[in-house]
Amino acid sequence: MTQEELFKSLIAHAKEYGFIFQSSEVYDGLSAVYDYGQLGVELKNNIKKYWWDAMVRLNENIVGIDSAIFMHPKIWEASGHVGAFNDPLIDNKDSKKRYRADVLLEDYIAKLEEKIEKEVEKGKKKFGESFDEVQFRATNPNVLRNRVKADEVTTKMNDALNSADLEAVRQLIIDCEIACPVSGSRNWTEVRQFNLMFSTQMGSVSEDAGTIYLRPETAQGIFVNFLNVQKTGRMKIPFGIAQIGKAFRNEIVARQFIFRMREFEQMEMQFFVRPGEEIAWFEKWKEARLKWHLALGLGESKYRFHNHEKLAHYANAAADIEFEFPFGFKELEGIHSRTDFDLSQHQKFSGKKMQYFDPETNENYVPYVVETSIGLDRTFLAIYASSYCEEKLENGEDRVVLRLPAFLAPVKLAVLPLVKKDGLPEFARKIMGDLKYDVNCQYDEKDSIGKRYRRQDAIGTPFCITIDHQSLTDNTVTIRYRDSMEQERVSVENLRAIVEEKVSMRKVLEQI
Ligand code: ATP
Repeated sequence: MTQEELFKSLIAHAKEYGFIFQSSEVYDGLSAVYDYGQLGVELKNNIKKYWWDAMVRLNENIVGIDSAIFMHPKIWEASGHVGAFNDPLIDNKDSKKRYRADVLLEDYIAKLEEKIEKEVEKGKKKFGESFDEVQFRATNPNVLRNRVKADEVTTKMNDALNSADLEAVRQLIIDCEIACPVSGSRNWTEVRQFNLMFSTQMGSVSEDAGTIYLRPETAQGIFVNFLNVQKTGRMKIPFGIAQIGKAFRNEIVARQFIFRMREFEQMEMQFFVRPGEEIAWFEKWKEARLKWHLALGLGESKYRFHNHEKLAHYANAAADIEFEFPFGFKELEGIHSRTDFDLSQHQKFSGKKMQYFDPETNENYVPYVVETSIGLDRTFLAIYASSYCEEKLENGEDRVVLRLPAFLAPVKLAVLPLVKKDGLPEFARKIMGDLKYDVNCQYDEKDSIGKRYRRQDAIGTPFCITIDHQSLTDNTVTIRYRDSMEQERVSVENLRAIVEEKVSMRKVLEQI
């Protein structure tokens, strides 16, 4: 099965089992907006808790807030979003499809890089043990040609984007002979800037209604509350403020399921530090965040850092943690050293001081900020995609299993009476009545036991227990493990300990 086919089946699976639905589906859907179903919301809440506990509970110097989505419109002028939160868009006149001009160019560069890697792979196969990769990359004519081209396009693209020279961006698309993937033509419009913020009106009468924006990031809610939190929480630098909440961006090209949405959730943390100490903190947070990801157990090779060479005007260092999604390595989290840009801008635009008095140095200053910013929905997709597995069993049967990290699974324990009579359901209900206070349980008595196991495998339930006639006499049940499908007989008294040990978030948190 190709990655593309696998991705399609996991989207279908997410719908079939109540994880994710297209928004407004009965009205044919709303593009790039999704609803989380009954199991999706559980998984999402568990991811949030994992992030919140790792950031807020385990760090004495980090506290959380929940700021409003609507904010004073001046905030978005100060932050630069009104003026510069734009994407360059271009339309193909034949297909009428709209693209991000920078993404067309990035895809073109990625293809050149792919060609280089393929050439190196060919060389490896051809020369075997004696293969000298460094020399090969430095001398092979095909590699060199593609390298020069990729570097040249990258430089020209960055120059054009940095100087907002939209004509140069268009010219580069034409020079590279980039064609529309749908129509195949190179009949392009001009490149235009498109602001990604959604706006709406606040106020009941249209005359005094003011334009306000749906926040495109949660970070600004933290910046404008910086002094409120610092003073009321008696926080001392270095300290952080964390927040989980909705953000909205009118993305030009929204595709790849919940990877790029128009309404999504972010988990952000702004860490306030002394000027001059930001780079050391930036490095520390890069390491800490990677550890958080690795503790999920999805595999080390699925992650890589991408250090930004081209920096936003307010940043003095930036890196992304990229994840290998079914459609390739893409950004999952950003770690940015944002200098004192945001607080200084709010100081300027609001006329209020955004300074901190440092009792250790006896100085007043505007703190520097290192932020970690991760998409909740992208994390969901990363976990879901890596857990989704279609297997052929030894007996020839197929099974779909969601190998979710057990501590994140929506349902931790399924309670299954073998038959619907002879007092087995009552016995099962009794066990569930007790364990439901500790873990999320699901009761199921419909269909054969085999079918019920498959249903639980498909939603990622790590344990099923089956109650049979023997249970009534000796107070034991059969526990079945999702991943190995092994079964063993255990005493009901031991159930809680067995299950809690395996689904404990504490164990994962202890690793980070
Ligand atoms: P991209 O380059 O993919 O558009 P970005 O660099 O604009 O992302 P940031 O502004 O750094 O993203 O936002 C922080 C995080 O928020 C991202 O790493 C990503 O996980 C998430 N995110 C951003 N835009 C979206 C979106 N449209 N849908 C879902 N998640 C998003």
